[in-house]
Amino acid sequence: SVVTRFAPSPTGYLHIGGARTALYSWLHAKASGGPGDGRFVLRIEDTDRERSTDEAVQAILDAMAWLDLEHDGEIYYQTRRFDRYADVIDRLIDEGKAYRCYSSAEEVEAMREAARAKGEKPKYDGTWRPMPGKTLPEPPAGVDPVIRFATPLDGHTVIHDLVKGDITISNTELDDLVIARADGTPTYNFCVVVDDMDMGITHVIRGDDHVNNTPRQINILKALVGDDGDLPVYAHVPMILGPDGKRLSKRHGAVGVMRYREEGYLPEALLNYLVRLGWAHGDQEIFTREQMLEHFDIENVQGGASTFDPDKLLWVNQEHLKMAAPQDLVGELRWHLARLGIDGVDDARLTEIAAIQKGRCKTVREMAEQSLFVFQSVTEYEPKAVKKHIKTATPDLIAQVRDSLAALDDWNGEAASAVVKQVATDNEVGMGKVAQPIRIAVTGGPVSPSIDDTLALLGREETLTRLDAAVS
Ligand code: GLU
Repeated sequence: SVVTRFAPSPTGYLHIGGARTALYSWLHAKASGGPGDGRFVLRIEDTDRERSTDEAVQAILDAMAWLDLEHDGEIYYQTRRFDRYADVIDRLIDEGKAYRCYSSAEEVEAMREAARAKGEKPKYDGTWRPMPGKTLPEPPAGVDPVIRFATPLDGHTVIHDLVKGDITISNTELDDLVIARADGTPTYNFCVVVDDMDMGITHVIRGDDHVNNTPRQINILKALVGDDGDLPVYAHVPMILGPDGKRLSKRHGAVGVMRYREEGYLPEALLNYLVRLGWAHGDQEIFTREQMLEHFDIENVQGGASTFDPDKLLWVNQEHLKMAAPQDLVGELRWHLARLGIDGVDDARLTEIAAIQKGRCKTVREMAEQSLFVFQSVTEYEPKAVKKHIKTATPDLIAQVRDSLAALDDWNGEAASAVVKQVATDNEVGMGKVAQPIRIAVTGGPVSPSIDDTLALLGREETLTRLDAAVS
């Protein structure tokens, strides 16, 4: 059965491109052969100790949790696997598939220069590579060797790529790459291979910035599992571009997944937007998680780069808000309200608010901001002169509304706004002449949801209290 992995390097937050790779990997594992069949492994590639931080690991885990891309089994950390890598390196040396190289950095540079001068690809010249009938030089004293992988000297390496098709590379193009440094630490390409083997990865789905590593990794893997051994299938996903056609980066604005949470996007909407960035199922734009799982097919991912479109993301978010059940928005709404200083609101109240706000806002953040008035008593009227106006020009209208509202059997937005309308009709004034003073009286300002939503959100008791306070 299918095993995929997401293997971020914890050097920063999880960005949009990484999230899409994670999503594709997760979908491929979970969509293949029915629910629960495939496994999705999370591996933290933290061998670059200077650039990896615990904060970045946590940021990635938080973002994965928010997106609900759940991994199976333990989280692997490469830094906890050094013993294993050392064992594999010893084995390769014993089998003559890797060797100690004592060439100095200057010597290697000179070899490369010489190759360049001949118009060839710069590479290590194989001085320390054992060959049948070859006598190796005497190791220089006091030099710690690096370990190099003995890349096949001829033949081709073929990448079977589900997105890009077959890619063939001549092995003569490939260097005898260093798999362990002089201090014994394994190098990146080597760790990836051992991990993919040990973790039984069947499908390597990753950004196509790694495609140059792939033939090297395949050769090492073949040295470990044999030419007939199982190799993973690869799928190199094209990158995401900014509107200017350059690779998406901070220059283009927010790229961190959690920034999108802060801006009020739903995880479902972000996933929906990302899945469509490079993949299509007919002309369907809006996908639930279940629909993605039903239809996603890595082989339909397009080979060309895609352009990030923030306007479309916002539209997708709005569509998801519209179709969400109010109770499913409670978690995000609570989170956003907390950021605005409002805590301890019960679920039922948040569900009511979500039901009213979800159709009129583009983001959950906007829903929270537009609901703040519900939780904050009116201390100031904006503009200031307005309270005076309410008290002098309309106290009678407000009193009429108040009495009718108090007498309502059922409290809901429609009934409340019908009261406002009735008072306007009775007094032969426009609806706005009544609705606007009411709105200012209960929210302190002239901008809020429609009068029916405003009163529905506030509830009867709070509405009456605020109306009384405004005219007193
Ligand atoms: N750690 C690599 C990265 O974050 C991914 C390597 C891989 O998927 O093989 O770019």
